Amino acid sequence: MISSAPPHIVIIGAGFGGLQTAISLGGSAAQVTLIDRNNYHTFVPLLYQVATATLEPEWIALPIHKLLHRYKNVQFVQGNVEAVDLAARRVQTEQVTLQYDYLVLATGSQTHFQGVPGAKEYAWPLRTLEDAIALKHHLLQCIEQAAQISDSDQRRQRLTITVVGGGATGVEVAGALVELCHQSWPKAYPWLRREPVQLILIQSGPELLPEFPHPLRSYTYKKLARLGVQVQVKTKVASVHPTDLELDSGVLIPCATTIWTAGVQATHPPMQTAFPQGNRGKCSVLPSLQLQQYPEVYVLGDAAQVPDQTLAGVAPEALQQGVCTARNLRRQLQGRTPQPFRYFNKGRLAIIGCFSGVGKIGPFPIRGFLGWFLWLAVHLVYTPGYRNRFIILMTWLQSFTTKDKLAQQLLGLRSSLSAKLKV
Ligand SMILES: Cc1cc2nc3c(=O)[nH]c(=O)nc-3n(C[C@H](O)[C@H](O)[C@H](O)COP(=O)(O)OP(=O)(O)OC[C@H]3O[C@@H](n4cnc5c(N)ncnc54)[C@H](O)[C@@H]3O)c2cc1C
Repeated sequence: MISSAPPHIVIIGAGFGGLQTAISLGGSAAQVTLIDRNNYHTFVPLLYQVATATLEPEWIALPIHKLLHRYKNVQFVQGNVEAVDLAARRVQTEQVTLQYDYLVLATGSQTHFQGVPGAKEYAWPLRTLEDAIALKHHLLQCIEQAAQISDSDQRRQRLTITVVGGGATGVEVAGALVELCHQSWPKAYPWLRREPVQLILIQSGPELLPEFPHPLRSYTYKKLARLGVQVQVKTKVASVHPTDLELDSGVLIPCATTIWTAGVQATHPPMQTAFPQGNRGKCSVLPSLQLQQYPEVYVLGDAAQVPDQTLAGVAPEALQQGVCTARNLRRQLQGRTPQPFRYFNKGRLAIIGCFSGVGKIGPFPIRGFLGWFLWLAVHLVYTPGYRNRFIILMTWLQSFTTKDKLAQQLLGLRSSLSAKLKV
């Protein structure tokens, strides 16, 4: 008997890579099911602006149904994938079990605390929208508490924020904290002018932004130091505690907030079959992004290790891999051979904040206002949703001219609202 049902492609993860694969398969001959534990897509590069009260969380998230509504052959299922059986070609969430003909694993990465004692328990990660909201809430709590504490050591401890990791995320968080704590908050809390928040950025390597050329690294170091951030390079964190942080040298830094940006590790749903592991938990794939043992399975984005290519784990790589995977799946459906993935690097940008950024486009290094402007322009263009883009642009214009952070800084409002909704 000849089956007339179209082949079923299941994609796990609606981040940059998975969503792009689903969109690129729109209108194809396959039935596509996209699964994610959230029913929204998060624009991760702007998470730090949610954590530092520039943007509201809903402005950097878009409902997945809305993003997919025009593709009739693509459906979305919300659920946490609890098991994948590659041999039986089966995916299981809490609610449903799906059989697939082809599978795309695009489950991204999570914060890696590198085995530092106490880091997982007491440091604040910044990987999901929930992380960003929780961090913002905690920062507000610290400032409100500090305003009421008379003991100067305890007040100082509440007013000290340590950022661990001097890569692009650590640098952008430190710069945004300067804008929040040194420029915006002193308007609402005038006593902060006498007693400013102490910002410390810790980097284990000898320089910040190791993936950028040397002059840009030293520019970033000097810029952050001028903005009042204490940058400590060649410094490792030994352990994190609820009230302080200990360095390898034995020095204790009393601080109520440790923000952990020092590394990520690939995320995979629980697999019933072992697969080849690469660096930082990534899955080793063929140049075409397929698994050697299972050519009907593709892995991409932060979860994949692609041979012979130097990839940095950024969104454009996941997006291009999504396009490549969809193209290869269409080829497989037509009985043709999948093609290898080749990354087209358009350049790298990192924002420092306070009207500064750095970047490298082709052979040209960029720094200062141009780097800052380009970073914002590129990220605005890639933010999903016209309405979100418009609100973000207006908010940026207003906050750059008034130096005010305009996102709601109301403690407890969201939690009491959601508690009411649950009743
Ligand atoms: C704070 C931060 C800032 C960044 N800034 C930039 C930047 O400025 N520019 C840039 O290019 N890159 C940036 N990156 C890197 C970029 O965000 C990642 O490279 C990109 O998100 C990887 O895309 P992905 O599709 O592999 O995974 P993700 O975008 O992480 O998506 C993975 C998806 O899988 C879902 N998922 C995972 N497990 C399951 C499961 N078991 N069941 C159901 N769903 C699941 C998750 O909910 C998520 O939606 C940043 C990363 C971070 C953390």
